[in-house]
Amino acid sequence: MHEPIFSLEVFPPKRNASVGSIYDTLDGLEGLKPDFISVTYGTGKHSDRTATARICGTICREYGIASVAHLTAQYADQEVVDEALELFEEAGVTAVLPLRGDCVEGRTPAGVFQYASDLIAYVHAAKPHMKIYAACYPETHPEAQSPEADIRHLKEKVDAGASHLISQLFYDNDDFMDFLDRARSEGIDVPIEAGIMPVTRAGQVRHMSQTCGSRIPPAVERMLDTWADNPQALCEAGIAYASEQIADLVAQGADGIHLYSMNHPVVTRRIWRNVRALFTEVGTADCLPA
Ligand code: FAD
Repeated sequence: MHEPIFSLEVFPPKRNASVGSIYDTLDGLEGLKPDFISVTYGTGKHSDRTATARICGTICREYGIASVAHLTAQYADQEVVDEALELFEEAGVTAVLPLRGDCVEGRTPAGVFQYASDLIAYVHAAKPHMKIYAACYPETHPEAQSPEADIRHLKEKVDAGASHLISQLFYDNDDFMDFLDRARSEGIDVPIEAGIMPVTRAGQVRHMSQTCGSRIPPAVERMLDTWADNPQALCEAGIAYASEQIADLVAQGADGIHLYSMNHPVVTRRIWRNVRALFTEVGTADCLPA
């Protein structure tokens, strides 16, 4: 069996948060030796556009871990994109995840890069040496005309230059495996990492479910109900659920796992401790009976 890819995602601290908080996150994640850490890109009006490049640079240079810089398209014109790509290069970043980005109420798209595939094609032509990642949606993107259309548009992203896909979060592995079958049937043959977001807070799960259209299956609903008044117990149950989800995905031959760390190194480390033997040759002995 091939060794699955293991990657993490972090987000830049808010403008008014301490810059040091990202170091606390990265320090906490460092020992896990992920294949790469990706850094999100803010779409909000007040997002610091340079933060993604700076944090990616820190990850590469100070932590010796490969980084992937997210970049959103729909509110950007060519000048903004060129500037971002230059900043990525200066920071030593060699991989980008171009996205359309979420729609922000009251903001008019720049009209240059309408879909992620437009930005992917542009980056591929402008920076042919950069590796390109793209997002995919096991439960179908909420705005898609249909699941079939969504997969066709995903194929367009691969044809435009994406050579590695990372999925939206999902809580039911059957949804991911079904999507994988549909993607492979469409001729999408690049690695597809499964995106896992551990349940740590009920409000966050409900919010993500609303915004990303991720279904909350009965097992997760039960967890949210049972531990509604005990956030610590809910977090423990969430760590156990994510660990089981990952073990099952790896057993089913998933190409890799992308863990949405939510800048929460303790939870991420706990999950990693539970599943690390699945990703590395070392450490297998300490979970075997004497
Ligand atoms: P697209 O691939 O462009 O798809 C958007 C919608 O348009 C889909 O419904 C698709 O079916 C449809 N579509 C695509 N092409 C066409 C076409 N030619 N004609 C008609 N319809 C079409 N958001 C951020 O703001 N910052 C981040 O850093 C960030 N990181 C993310 C990382 C991952 C791994 C994922 C899964 C999501 C991330 N997002 C991020 C959220 C993402 O921006 C949203 O999900 C957004 O709504 C869609 O982005 P996309 O790149 O997948 O869009």
